[in-house]
Order: sequence, then structure tokens, then C-alpha cells
Amino acid sequence: MKKTIFLTALLASTAVSASGGGHWGYAGAEGPDNWARLSPDYSACAGKNQSPINLTGFIEAELEPIKFDYKTGGNEILNNGHTVQVNYAKGSSIQVDGRTFNLLQFHFHAPSENHIKGKSYPLEAHLVHADQDGNLAVVALMFTEGAENKGLAKAWSQMPQHAGDKHALSSSVDVNEILPSNRDYYRFNGSLTTPPCSEGVRWLVLKEVATASKAQIEAFAHTLHHPNNRPLQAVNARPVLQ
Ligand SMILES: [Zn+2]
Repeated sequence: MKKTIFLTALLASTAVSASGGGHWGYAGAEGPDNWARLSPDYSACAGKNQSPINLTGFIEAELEPIKFDYKTGGNEILNNGHTVQVNYAKGSSIQVDGRTFNLLQFHFHAPSENHIKGKSYPLEAHLVHADQDGNLAVVALMFTEGAENKGLAKAWSQMPQHAGDKHALSSSVDVNEILPSNRDYYRFNGSLTTPPCSEGVRWLVLKEVATASKAQIEAFAHTLHHPNNRPLQAVNARPVLQ
């Protein structure tokens, strides 16, 4: 039941309130401190394994390389009032723990939600994947201000300016063009960073930081009109592996 709720929220979501559990936001009465109280569907937001976190105190582990099988497939872009999201066609996936997780969509947060060794970044991408049982895996990528990100440029040129806007991209985006070539990662067990905050999400945070131009970072912030980062959550008993 819970999985149905969050997959619906991840996949649909053109309307601002498409999550079904009620309105939420990043400030005031509907802000992150109150998410768990806004709806019974959002009770997980008060859980002990929430995202984002400050990634630090790493445990050395023999992390297997993620097997990436990404193809061109970002073919639709939307602004749902909480983020700008590119929906991905079927056929791109990663393999983790011997399971295949299909890439559903990627979206952005500014400033970054996760921190690495206490450092916040101006922009963070989340590539959201699900396996056939509805288990989620998110690949996260930090951006620092620098050279223009060529992969991002295609999507950015057609960024929907208003909440609720959605349209097809005139040329399909390849997420390989956004990601760095080195894909070593940190790993921890967390949650969705937006309501319903469902737990049991595999978080795979790339160590290599990408660049985006000042104009690219500002374009995103300007479109959303507000920061869209949930504050850091308590790590509690979770190890962060590297
Ligand atoms: Zn996200």
C-alpha cells in the first residue's frame, strides 16, 4: 500500500498537489518541520532513517561498482512546483545488489540536500530508480559552480517556468552527458526527501562533483522561486559506506 502511494507520487505529479496526501512546501506551516503532521500518509517523515544527511564518518567497505546501463531517454520535462523533473523512457537501469533498478526520472534541488563532509553544494541531482518490486534507489550528484554542464543545457533550454507545466523535450536527454565518468560512490540507507518520506531507499551519492555554470544554477533557482532542500536529518544508527 505504501509503495503504491509513493510510486504514484513519483510517476504522476504534474499538478502541485498530485501526491494526494495534501499540500506541502518548504516553509511555514506546510514546511519540513510539519510534514509528518500534515497527513497520515506522511507519518514516515518523522522516521529514524530519513534523508538527506551529512555524509561523514565513512565506513570502509568493498562497495561493488554500480553497473550503469543508461541510454538516451529523457523525453519529457515538468515543473511540479517542488522541483523541475525530467521523465525517462523505459530501458535505462542500474544494477545494485544483484537487482535491476529502472531509471524513472531525475530532478534537482538547490541548494543541495545531502552534504558531504559538512559541505553544501549549490545544486544536487537525484536520479530515481525502482526495481520490479517497487524498491527505490537514488543516485545523487552534486554540482559546484564552474563550466557549463552540456548535458544539463538541453533540458535547461526548455525549462517549464510555471508550476503544473509539462512538455516533451524537442531532443531527448542522455543522462550520461550529465554524469561524471568516475562513478565511485558513498552509500547509505535513507528515504525520499519529500512527502511521503518513504524509507528503505538505497542512496548512492557520487563522490565526483560535476560543474554547472552560474547561469544554469541561477536559472533553476529563479524558476522555482524558493529553495527546495529539506534540512539535514539525524543519521541515528546508520553507517555511511565508502
Ligand atoms: Zn530529490
